Amino acid sequence: MQVRWNFKLLPNQTQEATLEDWLVTLRKHRNYALRERTTGFETNNKDSDSSIIYTHGSYCDLESKIEFGSCCPLTCPVLKHGVIPQNFELTTKTSTVKDKETKEILETIVKWDSASGIQMKVTTHLRTSRDNFSRINSAVLQTNIARLDTAFSNFYKRRIGYPNFIRRLDSFEYKPGHLQLRHIRKNYATAYLPGIGDVKFLRSRDLTDIQGDLRTCTVTRKGGNWYISMLVNIADVLPAIKPLEECKSVVGIDVGINKLIALSDGSFQENKRISTNKRTARRMAMRQRAISRKLKGSKNRTKAVKKLAKQQHKLAQRRDGYDWQMAKVVVDTADVVARENLNIPNMVKRAKPKHDGKGGYKRNNAAQKTGLNKVILDASWGDIFDKIAWLALKAGKPVVEVPAKYTSLECPKCGHIDKKNRKGEKFLCVACHHVDHADTKASRLIGKKVGLVFLKNKKTLRADCAKVTPSSYQSIVVETGNHAFGNNRARARNSDSWIFKRYGRTS
Ligand SMILES: [Zn+2]
Repeated sequence: MQVRWNFKLLPNQTQEATLEDWLVTLRKHRNYALRERTTGFETNNKDSDSSIIYTHGSYCDLESKIEFGSCCPLTCPVLKHGVIPQNFELTTKTSTVKDKETKEILETIVKWDSASGIQMKVTTHLRTSRDNFSRINSAVLQTNIARLDTAFSNFYKRRIGYPNFIRRLDSFEYKPGHLQLRHIRKNYATAYLPGIGDVKFLRSRDLTDIQGDLRTCTVTRKGGNWYISMLVNIADVLPAIKPLEECKSVVGIDVGINKLIALSDGSFQENKRISTNKRTARRMAMRQRAISRKLKGSKNRTKAVKKLAKQQHKLAQRRDGYDWQMAKVVVDTADVVARENLNIPNMVKRAKPKHDGKGGYKRNNAAQKTGLNKVILDASWGDIFDKIAWLALKAGKPVVEVPAKYTSLECPKCGHIDKKNRKGEKFLCVACHHVDHADTKASRLIGKKVGLVFLKNKKTLRADCAKVTPSSYQSIVVETGNHAFGNNRARARNSDSWIFKRYGRTS
């Protein structure tokens, strides 16, 4: 099993200076490579008399659609009008076949290299001629180009937009097997980063159960701190997920703003409003204002930006920790976790403009909606769901996603659905006058939607409370499995791998 482990890196002053120096060069390197590919694409064949500025990336004739070695237009190395470039070796692939005869045959066929292949070769040349490039580990420079490739391939798959020029690069990556762990002590360990040296990091987990070499390792700068994340192979520790028929208890959770999580056993998890509480929001506004008062490009502005970034990083960490705690509480409550299938991106869209029919606009309470959106994002429901999914996966418990429609408006007694049923935290059915706590009621409805029916034992336990024995099971409603992965469009493709990469936790 591959998991991603994160540690806080503790570089000394010289090492930190080197790391920062690297990031500047790597940013320039990436932007240069992007410029080369983009300009090569844009300038092609526009004016046949002008000389070609960029050798790599300018490509063969688009209009006649002549393909040389079926290259993608953006990456074809042949110059326009089929002119072979002077540095021919750079633009062709060298065969890696060892057999002599096949190699000779292969050498007669010209295989054009991809843009990244060419740029990697150029980078090797740069390392001999440029000082700042020679200081950087060559594998790091190559992964830098490979990361740009990923950006391009994501663009071609229409996942994201065209790659941007970046003003700030905060991370770089080592290839598998390059990093070594040394000096594993009680509280710290050192990692040998090629090109930088032995760097200490906080040993926040047991390092002995790593199997084999370290895979990809990424060094990141966040809010003035340095972190290292390692992809490691460990023994498979995940148990099989319990089938729903065997589960003896279910907990429904309803996420909200007033109470962050309402559990179906009647308990609540408070919303701490990590970054939107009055005190923090005021402080953040002050920090932001301080930046906007400073002159652009000045050193004081940079200082102010750093202060804000540090504060934001602190808040993010606090939120992360709190979310783990809550996820643990939820998963420990019962055998099955039921949650709503919320479309959070749709919930945080800004208010639509209201036309008054005369070319003007009516009030649409945009500021109010923006404020609400901030609070919703601060609550980080999606993050909590992700963490619950991972902890449940480790405990072998199924997570079931149920449709969110009318969970807050439906009466549990008579089934009447009405907007008037709700008044803030109170639930009062207008049809049968049933009174309940709105969030707890919603969480119980969510729990019920899973389809597990339990025996009622009024004397000791509530019917919808967590610890009861099932009497029958209606299998038509849901399939078994960890639904936290299955129903989400983006995550459906490789259900488990993304979550391992995100939370490599075994403890
Ligand atoms: Zn009712």
